[in-house]
This record gives sequence, C-alpha cells and structure tokens, in this order.
Amino acid sequence: MSPASLALGPGPVRMKYQVIARKFRPQAFQEVVGQDPIVQTLQNAIRMDRIGHAYLFSGPRGVGKTTTARLLAKALNCESGPTPEPCNGCPSCTEIAGGGSIDVLEIDAASNTGVDSIRELRESARYAPSRDRFKIFIIDEVHMLSTSAFNALLKTLEEPPPHIAFIMATTERHKLPATILSRCQQFAFRTIPPAEIRDHLRSVAGREGVTIGDGALSYVVRAAEGSMRDAQSLLDQVIAFGGQEIEDRDVREVLGFVPAEFLDRAVDALIQRDSRTLVELVGDVVEQGLHLQQFVRELLARVRDLLLARVGIGDAILGSAGERDAIARQSEAFSEQDLVRFFDVLLKLENDLRWTAEPRFHLEVGCVKLAKVAQLRDIEDLIREMKGGSASRPQLEERPGRPAAPALRAPGAGPDPVAVAAEPEATPPARSEPPETGPDGPPDPTRDSVAAQPLVQGFLDVFRGEIIRVESADADVESADARVESADGSSDAAEASGGSDESSSQGASR
Ligand SMILES: [Zn+2]
Repeated sequence: MSPASLALGPGPVRMKYQVIARKFRPQAFQEVVGQDPIVQTLQNAIRMDRIGHAYLFSGPRGVGKTTTARLLAKALNCESGPTPEPCNGCPSCTEIAGGGSIDVLEIDAASNTGVDSIRELRESARYAPSRDRFKIFIIDEVHMLSTSAFNALLKTLEEPPPHIAFIMATTERHKLPATILSRCQQFAFRTIPPAEIRDHLRSVAGREGVTIGDGALSYVVRAAEGSMRDAQSLLDQVIAFGGQEIEDRDVREVLGFVPAEFLDRAVDALIQRDSRTLVELVGDVVEQGLHLQQFVRELLARVRDLLLARVGIGDAILGSAGERDAIARQSEAFSEQDLVRFFDVLLKLENDLRWTAEPRFHLEVGCVKLAKVAQLRDIEDLIREMKGGSASRPQLEERPGRPAAPALRAPGAGPDPVAVAAEPEATPPARSEPPETGPDGPPDPTRDSVAAQPLVQGFLDVFRGEIIRVESADADVESADARVESADGSSDAAEASGGSDESSSQGASR
C-alpha cells in the first residue's frame, strides 16, 4: 500500500479504494501531464521505427518517469504495435498496466543493488520474449546499483540482443557511470508547472465528485513542489479529512500550513514597520504549535507573491481570485526594493533556523530586523534629497573640488609622500582635526532631523566622512605647501621629517 492510502485517517474502511495516483495513472501518452517534449519524442521514435535499446528517464520524484516507462513498454509490446497509441485492450496492454506482464520485468534497483540480480537479468535477457515482441526491463532507481552490478549491466548494454529493451529511471542521474549514460537515450523529466498540476487536480476532484476551491487547490499544489504524485497523495489526504466539500481551512490544517490570518498580520505589521507586532506574532505561532520554519517559508512565499503583484504579473500567483486581489492591494504599500530586501532577510532567516538551538529567539530578532529593513528606504530617499534637495546643496557643492584634489597632489607625489606624512601630525591642528573628530564635531543641519534613526545616522556618518575627506585632501595640499615653504629655511622641516613615519623619510630621500 502506498503512503497516501495509509494516510486515509478515520472513516469507513473501503478496501476497494484505490488511491488517486493509481486510479488516475495515465494510460495513454496524451494523458501524461507536463512532459510534452518527451512524450512527443518517444511517440515519433515509434512512428519512425527508430526504437532504441536503452532509455534513461531522469528527474525528480513523482513527475511521470515510471508511468512513461510503462506507456513505452505498452507501445512497444501492444498487439497492434509498436504503436504510438497502444490499444489498452490487448493482453499485453492490460497486463503491463496491472504490472503483471510476463515479458515486462520491473526491477527496483534500490532493493536489488547487487551484481547477482543483474546476472539474473542478463541470463533472462538471453532468451526470447515468451509472447510479446520485446522483453523489456524497467529498472527503477537505477543509480542504486553497485559498481559490479553496473559493470554486469554494461555488458548487456554494449551488445543487446535484438529483442531486448531497457528503460531505466533515476532521480539521481549524476550517480550513473558515464559508460552507462553514453549507451542510453536520455530524457530529463522536469518538475511539473504548478498551473498544470492545479488543472489536473481540479479535473480529478471533479471526477471524484469533490468540491474544492482554487484557494484550497493552490495549497495542495504548493505543498507538492512540482511532483504530481505528491499532489495526488495530498489530495487523497485532504479528501479524507474534509469529505466531498473541501474548505480552504481544512487544507491548511491537514497540510500544516500557517493560518492565512497570521500571514496577513505579518504583512500589515511590515506595512506599519511595526516590529512589536511581528515579535508578538512569533509568540502566537509558537503558542499554536506551528512550525517556525514553516511560518518563515510561507512568509517568504507571501513576499514573493507581493513582489509578483508589484511588478505586474499577479496572474502567476497561486490562489483564488479574491486572494490575488488582496495581495495586489497589499503590494501597493511596498516598493520593489522593500520586497527584495524582505526576501533576502527571510531567506537567510529560514536557513539560520535550521541550525540554531533557539529558533524562537532567532526568529524574534529576525522579525525586528525585518521591520528595520523596511526603514532603509528612508536612507534612499535621503540620498535622493541630498542629491536633488535644496537643504544640503551647500555641502554637495564642495564635491566639484574633489577631482581637483588628486590632481593637485599628483605633482608632489611618489605617490605623495609629503601629503601622507603631513596627515598624521605635521599639519596644523585646526585643519587636520576633522578626520578624527569630525563626526562628533561641528553641528550639522541635516543631522538633528534624522538623528533618531541609527541606520540613517550611520549613513550620514559615512557621507559626512566623504565630505571631510574632500576637505582634508585640500588641507593636505595646503599643509604640504606650507611645509615646502618652511623646508626652505627653518628647523620645522627637520623636525617634521624626523618625526614622521617611514613613507615620509623614503619620500625625503628620493
Ligand atoms: Zn494493446
């Protein structure tokens, strides 16, 4: 029994029940969801009579590898075949569908890793098929084979008897030896796009007589992470919990999602830059017994949705129309920059939570950081104001002097020993002070209005430092001039060069 059927939970035991993944397993190529290029290639190969002896299907779990392998087996062995559209009526087709064909052998390499099972396989491959056209070996999880088993398999792949076909499937293609890979026709299965999973689940639910809304479906799709089998198993689980009428809330609860109102509260708090509410929210998440990492993950997903809405591709958001509208409204409160920053902080937080011994504390601090990150926008506004605004014009007008400073320094340079030497001690105190004491020194008109915010303050300090550097560069040049003058005839010069650092004495010696 598959895990999904075990997860049926309370309710009447229906022994005849077949899980959705099996009940709705594609029986024709056109029913395979999300793998169109592969299906088309295989069908064309059969049509053109270009059938290979070894196929390798690689890709994540639950995306249709084994299903496609069985379809290919049917296509090859159907009474009316080889045909791109097996009849599903002949003994070969029905037996393969039921997994009991005498000429189609399914081997799970995970439980038959050794060389012996491959030797048996080789032995069996020597004999012609008992009824059908081909003897087909479907080897699942083929990467699990041991090295000696691979070597044994390779012998058969090198010179396969004409009536043999291998269809191998793996989730970890990189573990296969190159010698095996090079003898296979390789098909890389992709994860299935959310929209295709959603459409398929909707049709399955319809055929099962189950009512399920877009919102609820989107949670299932999200949890499935591109795997159709996972999606179908989850749908089974949700139906078992909610019956024929499935509410969004049921799905959230069964799949362990954080309640939507928690995420809404978090987003509202971000809009308000309200770290207190965010920290309280962490407490509520803990109290409800919810998983902190799951909360962060969902918040990440919400931020991603907000970003999509912000850049105008809200249609790509999974969920009901109402949810999409709500997200679009919320997104107006943020800039793209904000959302990207939130995403970065949350991503790091999600990763950190895996390793920390105190996830709650980590998350609380992370939430405060998140609220503060939103304030970074103020700094950008500030830069804009300082660049374009009138208040700070006088300061910025000093900037044109900046390119001039290196030019002035260049002549005395080697690069400019005198100026460098002058900086630490030889310059007049009045002019050389600013680099050290400047940030705390003279009052600044822009400072008082924003000084309350440490981030803004930090930026201001950097910015002020830059202006001061421009000033001190000028000062250097001036003091250098002064020293050149004094060097002409006073004892100051000897004192200065004697007391200054190595670079100055090197410069003096040149
Ligand atoms: Zn058939």
